[in-house]
Amino acid sequence: MADKRAKRLEKFIRPLRVEPGSEVDLERDFDPRYRGDLRKRDSAELLQTGVSLLAEYQARLAAQNTHGVLLCLQAIDAGGKDGTIRHVMSGVNPQGVHVSSFKVPSAEELDHDYLWRYACRVPARGEIGIFNRSHYEEVLVVRVHPENLDRQRLPPESRGPGIWERRYREINDWERHLTDNGFAVVKIFLNLSQEEQRTRFMKRLDLPEKNWKFSAADIRERRRWDDYREAFSEMLSATSTAWAPWYVVPADRKWFARIGAAAILARTLMTIDPQYPTVDERARKELRAARRELEKQAPVGAAADPYAAGHPESRRRR
Ligand code: ATP
Ligand code: MG
Repeated sequence: MADKRAKRLEKFIRPLRVEPGSEVDLERDFDPRYRGDLRKRDSAELLQTGVSLLAEYQARLAAQNTHGVLLCLQAIDAGGKDGTIRHVMSGVNPQGVHVSSFKVPSAEELDHDYLWRYACRVPARGEIGIFNRSHYEEVLVVRVHPENLDRQRLPPESRGPGIWERRYREINDWERHLTDNGFAVVKIFLNLSQEEQRTRFMKRLDLPEKNWKFSAADIRERRRWDDYREAFSEMLSATSTAWAPWYVVPADRKWFARIGAAAILARTLMTIDPQYPTVDERARKELRAARRELEKQAPVGAAADPYAAGHPESRRRR
């Protein structure tokens, strides 16, 4: 059963994966309106299945406490990162999930190497960490707006024309380090079309309750659309690795993006296949002793084990 589910998921997400070593041209290779053979009318039920699956696996991940999962979400403005996080994680125990949003770096963050602030936020074992924007901003916004690099105050020998190739390598190495040590790195790019971005911005301008979501910076960044597409394409080509591949999730249809993200995360958790810890003979002996002690404390007329009295099944499982 679990095997069949895993195979179905794998078939669904394969077309979204960037094959390591491939040369990506976003415009040519990925259609923001792709939806495979899914239909909107089935989407609520499918997402619910995904959300329940995630809840089940996250509970096991936390109980096993051996692996962690880092989900990196990248998108152009209005790509739907917030909504994706809200919907995909709606079923999991909030104690096991941490969301970190990365904005313009603070003075303290700029005083460190560029990966420092991200390393400070990686999840612990047993946790799912979500990066809302991530270390990839260091080869995206920082590349499109080089004045961000000036603020990082790098020594001259650390700059120069090879800087982006070097950053790609350093990011790949860092992710390798994480995966080698039990932390899966899942990378999702929500791929929005320019026209759908225009529509979403218009909605933010038209509806008073959405006005707060709009910022003048959004329009400024939109003017650099082609530069961002190029930076994204290069980044996807250089940093989709066997240990941490990129997934390009079509984002013009919000319902598809959410199902896609849930499926990718679920597939990762299934690969980890975390198990509830089993109890050894010594611990079982302690459980039996505790049981005897509690049974002796039963008040007159009460069942020795009130739980088992109410759930006859539980006796058999002991
Ligand atoms: P929303 O979807 O709600 O607008 P957001 O992620 O766009 O959320 P904002 O506060 O609007 O959040 O924007 C954060 C800004 O921080 C972005 O413009 C992004 O480019 C910028 N940023 C993130 N990381 C870096 C970085 N390392 N250097 C410079 N700018 C960065
Ligand atoms: Mg924004």
